[in-house]
Amino acid sequence: MLAMVLDRPGTPLVPRQVPVPRPGPRQVLLRVEACGVCRTDLHIVDGELASSRLPLVPGHEIVGVVAAAGAEAIFSLGERLGVPWLASTCGSCRFCRSGRENLCGRALYTGYTVDGGYAQYAVADGRYVFRLPPADEAASLAPLLCAGLIGYRTYRLAGEAVEHLGIYGFGAAAHIIAQVAVHQGKKVYAFTRPGDHAAQAFAGRLGCVWAGGSDTLPPHRLDAALIFAPVGNLVVAALAATDKGGTVVCGGIHMSDIPSFPYSLLWEERSLRSVANLTRRDGLELLALAPEVPVRTEVTTFPLVQANEALARLREGRIDGAVVLLPSAG
Ligand SMILES: [Zn+2]
Ligand SMILES: [Zn+2]
Repeated sequence: MLAMVLDRPGTPLVPRQVPVPRPGPRQVLLRVEACGVCRTDLHIVDGELASSRLPLVPGHEIVGVVAAAGAEAIFSLGERLGVPWLASTCGSCRFCRSGRENLCGRALYTGYTVDGGYAQYAVADGRYVFRLPPADEAASLAPLLCAGLIGYRTYRLAGEAVEHLGIYGFGAAAHIIAQVAVHQGKKVYAFTRPGDHAAQAFAGRLGCVWAGGSDTLPPHRLDAALIFAPVGNLVVAALAATDKGGTVVCGGIHMSDIPSFPYSLLWEERSLRSVANLTRRDGLELLALAPEVPVRTEVTTFPLVQANEALARLREGRIDGAVVLLPSAG
């Protein structure tokens, strides 16, 4: 099969013919229909996150159909499944036993510590995959599997009592979560790069009540702010825009250093927290909620062999919505 392989961080992915992986007893082999390109992939390819596995096939937003299943996997041939970032956990540590498998120290991660979906086929542990609707377009489902799931966890951890919600960094995660939040009656304020009028117009089309540059204050103080851009300065900006008792949640796996700031920005019981990974519960909740909204993802697709071009587009940040690779195209 064709796979796009990372040999060394900081170098482009290399198209390579490799053997189709064989599923273990608990695994499924998927023929990949689509694989989303996530900002975390950029952090891995660029070497901002150290990878323990090289060569590596990146990609952790996999939509595929079952081509083979191990003896203990419960899926039938042809079923459509989604594979998220969380590839497996130990199931026995104190985090796994307390509903926090996202913090498991022995977890494996798709497209990071195990091979992912920048390929024609991928294997996944059948206990950590999700069933996906067979009729939807594969490319439109892929962004739900990380941008959607991690975005949803970030949104969930902001708490229930949120009326005015700010979202900093209006990319793949934001465009999904804004739709969910608007559906749930929140007033959503979108913060983009200063002067990015295209992204601000995009946010307006998704139902945000206000959109502006991240260097400006919104017309109403925020009850909570979600940060999806990997920019430490935004933590300070978000705290400054957040009302007493409000929460700022950082949704990314990597961020530039946070500058020092006066205690008064945190005082009055503001909270600052981060999100790490996802739990299967997050996935089941979002995938049940998405058709109710209904979430419509905006995707730009590339053939698999153009993965480097797709990553470059994401790195430039000039793209509305999500980037998705299609192994069958090109
Ligand atoms: Zn564990
Ligand atoms: Zn991701």
